Amino acid sequence: MDEIDGLGQLTDYRRLCSDLTLQTKKEGFFKDYLASIVDQVSEEEFQEFSKQQTDYDRIRYCWTLPALHKTMKSFRPSYRGKSADDSAKRREQGNEAFKEKDYRKALVMYNQSVAYAPYSSLLEKTTLALALANRSAVLVHLKEYRLAVRDIQLSLQSNYPEKQRYKLYDRMGYCHQQLGEPAKARVAYTVALDCLAESDLELHALENWRQTVEKSRSKLASSSNPSNQPTTTVNELPELLGGAHPTIPNASRNLSLKVDDNCGRYYVAADDIKPGQTLVCEKPYAACLLPGKFTSHCHHCFVRLIAPLACVTCRGVFYCSVECRDEAGSTYHQYECGIVDILTASGSSILSWIALRILTKGKLEDFLAAREQLEKGDGMRLAQQRADDYSCIYHLATLSHLRSDKDFFDRTFMALFLFQCLRASGFLPTRHRYEEDALNITDDEIFVASLLLRHLQLLQFNAHEIHEFVQLNEKNMRSTKTAYIGVGIYPTVAFFNHSCRPDVARYFLGTAMVITSSRSIRRGQMVAENYGPIFTHKHLADRQQSLLGRYWFQCQCPACKNDWPIYDGMPDMESVLICCPLCRGSLQSVNSSYARCTKCKKQSLWEAIRRPVDEISSLYQTGMRIMDLGQVDKAIHVLGLYIEMMETLVEDLPIRELFLAQEALRLCLGTYGTKYVATSHLSFKAAAGNPDNKTNA
Ligand SMILES: [Zn+2]
Ligand SMILES: [Zn+2]
Ligand SMILES: [Zn+2]
Ligand SMILES: [Zn+2]
Repeated sequence: MDEIDGLGQLTDYRRLCSDLTLQTKKEGFFKDYLASIVDQVSEEEFQEFSKQQTDYDRIRYCWTLPALHKTMKSFRPSYRGKSADDSAKRREQGNEAFKEKDYRKALVMYNQSVAYAPYSSLLEKTTLALALANRSAVLVHLKEYRLAVRDIQLSLQSNYPEKQRYKLYDRMGYCHQQLGEPAKARVAYTVALDCLAESDLELHALENWRQTVEKSRSKLASSSNPSNQPTTTVNELPELLGGAHPTIPNASRNLSLKVDDNCGRYYVAADDIKPGQTLVCEKPYAACLLPGKFTSHCHHCFVRLIAPLACVTCRGVFYCSVECRDEAGSTYHQYECGIVDILTASGSSILSWIALRILTKGKLEDFLAAREQLEKGDGMRLAQQRADDYSCIYHLATLSHLRSDKDFFDRTFMALFLFQCLRASGFLPTRHRYEEDALNITDDEIFVASLLLRHLQLLQFNAHEIHEFVQLNEKNMRSTKTAYIGVGIYPTVAFFNHSCRPDVARYFLGTAMVITSSRSIRRGQMVAENYGPIFTHKHLADRQQSLLGRYWFQCQCPACKNDWPIYDGMPDMESVLICCPLCRGSLQSVNSSYARCTKCKKQSLWEAIRRPVDEISSLYQTGMRIMDLGQVDKAIHVLGLYIEMMETLVEDLPIRELFLAQEALRLCLGTYGTKYVATSHLSFKAAAGNPDNKTNA
């Protein structure tokens, strides 16, 4: 990265960009906190703050300021509570919709009924059991058999009334039958018959049931014929090109990490790379879903929700599965559960939320134990770059030497706000949690708050948006767009430098990021990704301004150095390829058979000039056509060949078809990731008709 300082007209813009990494524009109480603190802090106090050299000292100093404690009182955890009555009410509404065969509406109401149902006592759990049981019935109608089986199992575990269990086992048998699992179906039907003995049915009704269940059981096929209904919606991670790198296990062997003063750490190609190859696969160290997506996506793995399970304590966050719920509930969400509402109401940015999540997903004692090592360590010399190793996060670039005192000041108070949230969450020892002792802070606590301050700095430059591929029409690949659903921190990906003409594309499998090449890259060349501004859509000045403002560097990519035209002004393939085969000079027509070069004056046959151009054009057309037919693997192959050939022919030039082909390649690769087909997927809003569930996304 080229560093800049003293850019007058950019300072305000940079300030604005920097502020946005702390808090959202309008809503939330944090901005009022900060304004009030700024009002109360004297010039002398600010001067004294400016002298503090480390994050630890900044936190320690600000803690002594009376303005902080006058403004920011300690918090108590608050939970968006459950209610058996509300759960029962929604279940009734679900039943009405179900009777009217409005299954989608019934699902929405049952989803809410499940979300509201308390988990605390066995008796209360019956509300949950009934909500789940009714939801399983609607899921059968919607042909979501896998989810229906899960709901039935959970319902049976949650004190579902003995007298009616035969119904659930019969339904379970039907689902297994539909899923092509006759052995399981047989077991379920057999249990259903046993359970009939416990029912309070009249003799006649009982006999009817018995006959129906027996009939279903006897009709079962003898061998299984598994249906293709997936148990999970997230695909497996693809293999890395050439296998894993020896010291950067999430990166391909074909990448090599370089360090220099100008560019910091960055990747170059250790060997030639063709378009469409997998270069990095990485699960995030930490990732946070946007609050605006809390009701539509799994809080833990970010897949779309159909029949969600709520947190056992609150009804503020939702999960796709028991596994996700329990993993989050036994790690970060056990702490965040009580502060979700405070964080949301504060208007803190999603980056601030991740700054906190990096801690809550770990254990306090591990951070304290690593303290000495972290403070003396040098990230540049880390032998291993492991995405699950906190020291790799800790040592990401913070650009603290370029940060203004005012930026540090604001960021320190955000860190202290997050620290107060951590205290309320139970992540820290409870000694100082409430008013009586709230003004005290231990050395360990200052260290923890200083980590939050460090995270707030490094996330500004190293966090990545997480996207979901949304296909508006199943039949039409080009109806695809990417939707922003969250943010994650990926230590291996963070080392990619930026180019306005990127060499790679990315897609997501849940929260895991996959980086693939979108060009051919020669051995020794830098491999760059794109931080936001792409040259095909934004002019040079706009790109440079946004990169300076947001990431604090002056871009030196080929598109910036040569001021390439944006898409509209780009030459097309023919106008560039049709040239003198000897010197690439432009041609003049002599007659219908011959052309003369304006530079070297040699004559060539039109036919000889046209033939290779026609061949490569037809490769392009074929690639695009195959993509439109939805044959993704083939399209990736053909488009990759086309891109390679074009790049050999024209080297570093912006050409319209070449970028369309790269864009098409990116689309095709994106279909390997988490995909949401708008026309076929059940839409879900857990919070529909629930006015107190608003978020400040
Ligand atoms: Zn999940
Ligand atoms: Zn919760
Ligand atoms: Zn650039
Ligand atoms: Zn020539």
